[in-house]
Amino acid sequence: MQAASRPRTWIWSVVLLSTLCCGRTQSTPLQVFDGARAFQDLLELVEIGPRPAGSEGAARARSLIAQRLRQAGWRVERHEFKAALPDGGELDMTNVIGIREGARRDQRILLVTHYDTKRLEGERFLGANDGASGVALLLELARQLAARPLAFTVWLVFFDGEEAFGPRISDWDGLYGSRALVDRMVEEGTFDEIGALVLVDMVADRDLNLVVDRSSSPALRAILRQEAEALGLEELIDPQVAVRVVDDHTPFLVSGVEEVLAVIDFQFGARRTPGPYWHTVRDNTSAVAAESLNSVGRLVVQTFLRIERRLLQRASAP
Ligand SMILES: [Zn+2]
Repeated sequence: MQAASRPRTWIWSVVLLSTLCCGRTQSTPLQVFDGARAFQDLLELVEIGPRPAGSEGAARARSLIAQRLRQAGWRVERHEFKAALPDGGELDMTNVIGIREGARRDQRILLVTHYDTKRLEGERFLGANDGASGVALLLELARQLAARPLAFTVWLVFFDGEEAFGPRISDWDGLYGSRALVDRMVEEGTFDEIGALVLVDMVADRDLNLVVDRSSSPALRAILRQEAEALGLEELIDPQVAVRVVDDHTPFLVSGVEEVLAVIDFQFGARRTPGPYWHTVRDNTSAVAAESLNSVGRLVVQTFLRIERRLLQRASAP
């Protein structure tokens, strides 16, 4: 029993030492990202059923997101807007934004995903990966960051209407929520306060391999790679798959945000782009894994902390 008691003594010494030396005013260390807990949220979202923009399912997803954010201590804002559809019609849509103020309010870090699912006529599309995984990851991140003082104000943005009504996203179809938020922030004069933006989407594929997104900022891509290496997760990023992803980060990029990073697995179900499960009914709970969500979650946490430090250094530079 000697072997078992020694590490315990060691752990308590470390806890005591860190309490004595640092006190409670120093930044509280983050808890370990709980992939299993995040996966429970993913399952609950899928349980709602299809969640395309304008549906009852989407409204229920919004309630779940808002409830979880409030439980974790975040202020919740609903950003309602009318989306102009390709057929000339209009649809009411709503982004959900979780807000926590940081020590500095001159810049914000946006962590974003979409909660709507693709509308597939005659099919019961559940979007376990494309729709629920990003939401589940950000909700777990909300619980993590709640225990820690933030250097900058953080917005967790859950976009409506990422999916196009037609087969593909185009300049006039899809990305409704992100385009509307860019417009609103430009109008309000807050757009220039975006210090950095990280997108997560399709992050629970059982066979996880994150693309190298060519449209993301080279500096943030390097940080993502370095943090993956530090965690021993370098195999998550496939250097062979370098593509230019179009997703909810794109309207921000196009409008001038430089520090943008997309974290996405675009080879869903097999190692080809975009993968055979993408936008099919095979995007269900049997295609996703808590372990994948856990790996990407840990990576996003570390990447966020690096981005926070990077912005702090840039803000304090002469
Ligand atoms: Zn999609």
